[in-house]
Amino acid sequence: MIAVSISNLLKQKQHIAIASHVMPDGDSIGSMLALYSALKKMGKIVDVYVSDNAPERYSFLPCFDCIKVPDKNDRQIYDVFVVLDCGSFDRTGLCQDIIKESGISINIDHHGTNCLFADLNLVDTNASATGELVYQIIKLMGVEISKEEAMCIYTAILTDTGGFRYSNTTSITHQIAGELINTGIDFNSIYDMIYRSFKYEDIKLLGSALGSLQLFCNGKIAYMQILQKDIEKLGLEVTDTSDFIDYARDINTVEVAIFAKETVEKEFKLSFRSKKIIDVKSICEKYGGGGHVRAAGCTIKDSFDKVKSEIIEDLESKLKDGSV
Ligand code: 5GP
Ligand code: MN
Repeated sequence: MIAVSISNLLKQKQHIAIASHVMPDGDSIGSMLALYSALKKMGKIVDVYVSDNAPERYSFLPCFDCIKVPDKNDRQIYDVFVVLDCGSFDRTGLCQDIIKESGISINIDHHGTNCLFADLNLVDTNASATGELVYQIIKLMGVEISKEEAMCIYTAILTDTGGFRYSNTTSITHQIAGELINTGIDFNSIYDMIYRSFKYEDIKLLGSALGSLQLFCNGKIAYMQILQKDIEKLGLEVTDTSDFIDYARDINTVEVAIFAKETVEKEFKLSFRSKKIIDVKSICEKYGGGGHVRAAGCTIKDSFDKVKSEIIEDLESKLKDGSV
């Protein structure tokens, strides 16, 4: 079993690096910090990398301050490089060179679009979050899960299941969450820290997004956006808009929600969510992205308006075929 081989390898090796995908989310950060904490307990030398800024809302997690940005002038060589929650090699961003120079690469993920890019690949699309797989690996390594790792894994699962609401949530998800709670973590505070501690400007930005809401195809498609000018108007430099799309998705008539965020001028990061019919992963793959059947994303660099119309037309024809 690949999980056993991975845990044995991690037990043997000493110098280990961990990373995830660009624009990391709660599953990325939680999974990385849980594995980091477990490996440190085993006496390993470990570094954890994030290509861009780690979202501030996860700063309460143990070891958050240990996260490094890859630095060309401070290049380390690792026995093993573990990539978590990341479907493809290019999504590791600035970590690519360090991974190439490392001895062995490991890929632990739950995305259906994962292209098995590492030497050892543990990809399980039944896992609600990569955090579930990290939980297994830590157990297989024989490390007792304490509050530190439990907080991180709980965060990974909580965020990737939208608070245990999405269809990727299983009885195993709840079973693991129960075991994590038994370590004594304050799960109410974790929820509050992630979902109930917004800055005033974040809520105003949500207001701009809600103001842009449009419906298509008799209310089956919802579209929302944030432009650079909305962000600049509020004087924000860093924004975490990862939950905005839920408002569009949660409209009772909606089958597919799209959220477009202008990350730099004329470059748009698109997020998709669907409820029952549309495979949003396959739509995103057409534009070089990926993800899951019910949650996926991609980046559009040019002619955004044309791509937007194209996507909406494509969705409209798919929805007309089905009966939503
Ligand atoms: P989100 O909309 O929250 O950014 O992403 C939803 C899901 O799709 C996540 O699991 C995320 O990792 C994946 N995803 C988002 N953008 C991309 C992308 O550009 N490429 C790939 N391969 N996956 C993506
Ligand atoms: Mn994930």
